[in-house]
Amino acid sequence: MDDKIWRYAMKGVRDLQPYIPGKPIETLERELGIRDSLKLASNENPLGASPQALEALQTALTPTMLALYPDGNGFMLKQAIADKLKVTPEQITLGNGSNDVLDLIARTFLGDRRDAVFSQYAFAVYPLVTKAVGAKAHISRAHPASHPTAPYGHDLHAMLQQIRGYTHVVFIANPNNPTGTWLDAETLDYFISRVPKHTVIVIDEAYFEYVAHADYPNTLQWLERYPNLVVTRTFSKIYGLASLRVGYAVSSPEIADLLNRVRQPFNVNSFALLAASAALHDDTFVSQSCRSNQAGLKQWEQACQTYQWFYIPSVANFITVKVGENADAIYQQLLQQGIIVRPLANYQMNEFLRISIGTQEQNQRCIDALSQLVQKPC
Ligand SMILES: *Cc1c(COP(=O)(O)O)cnc(C)c1O
Repeated sequence: MDDKIWRYAMKGVRDLQPYIPGKPIETLERELGIRDSLKLASNENPLGASPQALEALQTALTPTMLALYPDGNGFMLKQAIADKLKVTPEQITLGNGSNDVLDLIARTFLGDRRDAVFSQYAFAVYPLVTKAVGAKAHISRAHPASHPTAPYGHDLHAMLQQIRGYTHVVFIANPNNPTGTWLDAETLDYFISRVPKHTVIVIDEAYFEYVAHADYPNTLQWLERYPNLVVTRTFSKIYGLASLRVGYAVSSPEIADLLNRVRQPFNVNSFALLAASAALHDDTFVSQSCRSNQAGLKQWEQACQTYQWFYIPSVANFITVKVGENADAIYQQLLQQGIIVRPLANYQMNEFLRISIGTQEQNQRCIDALSQLVQKPC
């Protein structure tokens, strides 16, 4: 008899495919015995971290800070976020990265005989948190490759049609990773107004601070109108604090209270709380990062036009480029040259690579390497 312990794991867990992270620099350098490699694989900030956050950390690094548990309620950080966003601290849920918040939402609202709806090519964490709790992932088809402004982007009309009585969560990334496509205020507001009241709508705004479009929505304004709306943001991207793991949700106090019940008591550590509070006020670093990213996006778009590579127009801090059928071989060859990007086969985008926007020199290094490897116009 086959009594392997594997068989006794929950079905949702047995069917899970683990998240595939970007390859860490140390791993590549250890494997190949090389140096000076460049990671453009996880949408980290190429300018590093907010200097104000760094300074706060340096003064806080004491034995006492290490020895004591963090403030489990994150009072200071919640207050700082609430002041900045003009919401109340009762509306905020802190997480160990916004990934943690997405997980809390799934554990609060999903389970057996419920489903979550999200788009094809949406962020890979949505199916993970959904299936882990035994719920069904209902995938809605994305815009086609020929779409004029958002190829492979979320099609909200298609998504609306997928929502059923047992759909309890809808995940929308705006802008989306790995496509970099975005939804304007009017389109998104219309969608939200049509979603049933018993369905929680999660708008994942991990790249919020990078978007400079006049039509990009201020979703926090809608929280009063839609008590089933949750907006998530993170300190991992523009604030440059990915290693500390801190993100948050803004919602109705009712939803925040529910999420708080399943939250680990000390899910955000003291250093993350402190650094995030400092980074939140570092407008200089945020605007510098934003400008650098705009320039980098332009640099990549021009390169794609020069070499005739198809790319998905992006408003985030990465660009997804079609490099052809041998994308995996190209990924491997870039690794040999010390350049780490993100292959997208796990998103069924086998001919694409997702490349984070770096500094001008980093972008050029990657563009030059790629121009030697991509065979023909894509
Ligand atoms: C990077 C990213 C996140 C944030 O991850 P953290 O857990 O906050 O580091 C969330 N959503 C999307 C779409 C992302 O790309």
